[in-house]
Amino acid sequence: MRTALVTGGGRGIGAAVARALCHEGYAVAVNCNKSYDEALRLSAELNSCGFVTKVFRCDVTSPDEVKRMFEDIERELSPVSVLVNNAGAAQQKLFCDITDKDFQDILSVNLTGAFNCIREALPYMIREKKGSIINIASMWGQVGASCEVHYSAAKAGLIGLTKALAKEVAPSGIRVNCVSPGAIFTDMLPQDKETIDRLKEEIPLGYIGSPEDVANLVAFLASEKASYITGQVIGVNGGMVI
Ligand code: NDP
Repeated sequence: MRTALVTGGGRGIGAAVARALCHEGYAVAVNCNKSYDEALRLSAELNSCGFVTKVFRCDVTSPDEVKRMFEDIERELSPVSVLVNNAGAAQQKLFCDITDKDFQDILSVNLTGAFNCIREALPYMIREKKGSIINIASMWGQVGASCEVHYSAAKAGLIGLTKALAKEVAPSGIRVNCVSPGAIFTDMLPQDKETIDRLKEEIPLGYIGSPEDVANLVAFLASEKASYITGQVIGVNGGMVI
């Protein structure tokens, strides 16, 4: 059974991706950092339905923790053949209020975290001449968000990383793509009614997306049906960015 790792898989979009990849027949390594209990609950629920999942707690910003996590996954499941870099964090601040630490923190989780995981995943994928890496970016990495300069920069960096790595590892049979969500109902979205109503007005399809909308695309990109797709940035945004 092939293994898929979903970073930040305990809640939000990551949890929906973990479910979708179970249905695709993968053993799923559910990574979490702070949401350990939620990840354990998700894993127990999926395992009770006959799927194979395990929780691996690790802060993706720490290269040492990530290295250990990959060793644990290989020992307890099998080496990672699908990597979904979903862990992320956002912050809204005027540019002049962004501190050095804010900037570092946002880049660390959204960009360096993906780098750390890819570095550990690639040697096995290269040996196998097969693998799929899916990075969860954001429409704000494509078009820029006011008051989210560091988040937009990190996600734009992730898009650049995706395109460059896709070219480098395509000869090794490895595909690298970006999924770029718009407004999706999770804890990351501002929850007040005024913001939600304003967002809906800006979305051509007229509603906020669900984590499953993103997970469906990730499952497709992980599958053989997407075998000729690499280096792409595919939006799931209800038409908000066209
Ligand atoms: P949530 O805030 O619901 O979830 C964030 C996830 O990231 C959690 O599972 C969290 O795990 C994980 N995470 C954060 N920091 C770390 C870390 N250091 N190590 C490991 N895991 C970490 O947000 P979403 O589910 O909405 O976001 C998922 C991805 O989608 C993110 O990359 C986000 O930027 C992107 N996105 C979301 C949009 C939206 O509208 N919701 C729009 C565009 C992009 P834990 O709780 O265990 O720490």
